[in-house]
Amino acid sequence: MKIIRDIATMLNFIKEKKSNNHKIGFIPTMGALHRGHLSLVNLAHSHSDIVICSIFVNPKQFALNEDFSSYPRTEKDDLQKLEDNQVDAVFIPNAEEIYPKNDKIEIIDVGYAGKILEGVSRPHFFNGVALVVTKLFDIILPDIAVFGKKDFQQLHIIKKLVKDLNLPIQIIGGEIVRENDGLAMSSRNLKLTDNERKIAPKLYQIMLETKSKIKSGTSINEAIKQGEASIKNCEGFELDYLEIRNRKNLEVAKSNQEPLQLLVAAYLNNIRLIDNLEI
Ligand code: AMP
Repeated sequence: MKIIRDIATMLNFIKEKKSNNHKIGFIPTMGALHRGHLSLVNLAHSHSDIVICSIFVNPKQFALNEDFSSYPRTEKDDLQKLEDNQVDAVFIPNAEEIYPKNDKIEIIDVGYAGKILEGVSRPHFFNGVALVVTKLFDIILPDIAVFGKKDFQQLHIIKKLVKDLNLPIQIIGGEIVRENDGLAMSSRNLKLTDNERKIAPKLYQIMLETKSKIKSGTSINEAIKQGEASIKNCEGFELDYLEIRNRKNLEVAKSNQEPLQLLVAAYLNNIRLIDNLEI
């Protein structure tokens, strides 16, 4: 497995693979890799000849009060996991090269889709994601790129970005990988104390309860109201949002007849957990 830390070497690597007509699959990550990330690697293998993973904790998607500096960094373990999963190359650029001082383009504004759900409490977030993903796409020129449904809104926005910018990249969504108790795997779970780790799966249980209420005819508004109350009553949680949206366009869902997605974000002692579920 090649470990590449600068853009010029990566461009050469890509040039050689492209000249051999290899189909390139790409998975952008921020590291602290777990089975969720590795499921995306395996999905990429099934759609491409060469699999490239990036590890880059993107400063542009964190606000000043967020956890950029305390975000888990486990490079040595990450490299071992990627090698074990037959990744061909890992790109670990440094922030100075990705964001040179004289750069004029500071964000890519993704519009409405970036202002709802996650975007309400993290207004900078998706513009920062869109910028780094576009830059990484420009370097790696992948044929396919895989993103997890764990970050449902992000997947939606990346699909839109690729469409709007006419990028010749197929975006593939990977299913959410969960722990045995239902907690969605996340790098931030490493920051939970033992006690918080015990409480965390309650979020998924409440999501399942909310889904089953809707399936048995409770109105969307009532089910959300009850779900919100359950989260608020749960010791340790601070709810950010619990919403049901139209799965296709992320508009607020008005009727049970639409394709529905339940999306949630809550803090457990300042650690942000997000999750979602198809209804
Ligand atoms: P991150 O390192 O958090 O930026 O995530 C990198 C990619 O892995 C994103 O496309 C995420 O949606 C995806 N991902 C994170 N957690 C999971 C999970 N539990 N299951 C599937 N994909 C995930």
